[in-house]
Amino acid sequence: MHLGNYLGALRQWVDAQSPDAFYCVVDLHALTLQISPEALRDQTTDLLATLIASGLDPEVCTIFIQSHVPYHAQLNWLLECVTTYGELSRMTAFKEKSQRQEGYRVGLLTYPVLQAADILLYDTEEVPVGDDQRQHLELARTIAERFNNRFGETFRVPVSTHPKVAARVMDLQEPTRKMSKSISSPLGNLHMFDTPEVIRKKIAKAVTDTDGELRFDWENKPGLSNLLEIYSSLSDETPQQVAGRYTRYGELKTDLSELVIATFAPMKERYDELLRAPDDLYKIAADGALKASAAAGGVYRRAAQAMGLTSTG
Ligand code: AMP
Repeated sequence: MHLGNYLGALRQWVDAQSPDAFYCVVDLHALTLQISPEALRDQTTDLLATLIASGLDPEVCTIFIQSHVPYHAQLNWLLECVTTYGELSRMTAFKEKSQRQEGYRVGLLTYPVLQAADILLYDTEEVPVGDDQRQHLELARTIAERFNNRFGETFRVPVSTHPKVAARVMDLQEPTRKMSKSISSPLGNLHMFDTPEVIRKKIAKAVTDTDGELRFDWENKPGLSNLLEIYSSLSDETPQQVAGRYTRYGELKTDLSELVIATFAPMKERYDELLRAPDDLYKIAADGALKASAAAGGVYRRAAQAMGLTSTG
């Protein structure tokens, strides 16, 4: 996960965790990318470790792997049958990503429906996500409302919640574009567990501007404002207060690097420790899948029956 994932989503998840909260590693969604089986396995394990190392506690909330709960793929099909092609082809993420992939697959178009299934299966009230997910969340709401209108009250209609600062962390090299796993260049993307040397290098090379004036101004100084907002979100100062303490970009960058390194160092230690015992991690995921299946099964059956699918009893 990169810094945008952490500040825009993961940190909120940790704050919001409770016995009613479900978090899943979306390995089915990862299949929309060209990914090798080995890479998918490694990244699934890696993400599971990242979630726990960041503070999600399997004793408090439910953590599982999406494909371990087959209701996700099953509900996806039911929902695809109430979603239009036009709706999906209008999604900004689809428009952007399909331009970058030759011969993109159908999954890239339909994954927002799977995402709606991920959400609706748990009678979800709130989905804490970064700004970039607003449109997909709106689609999940539209699908739920349409389904309820057509087949009777079945799904709870969710709302999304967004962080106040750093809801959209920008690419360090192209600060008018969001930091992204699939699109950012290697230097534009700051990973949570990059080594201290790499963190220092990426922040030192972050694109700013040449007028040398240190102020928070997204319109005219997107690169600098991105750094100030990242700093602010990792401290208890506003971006303006941070800007007021510096006169040179270089000093801000040096201090920001150390702040990022200090924030992630304890998580990295825990992450390394978790990865040394993958069986324990998968035990957590298996327990989580049992709890998730118990919750999701009831909602899936409700939806299937509402549509007229018969069951074996
Ligand atoms: P994804 O990278 O699409 O798997 O996103 C995982 C979570 O991170 C979602 O809740 C996104 O909204 C959030 N997220 C992704 N990129 C950013 C970003 N650049 N800034 C803030 N939040 C982000």
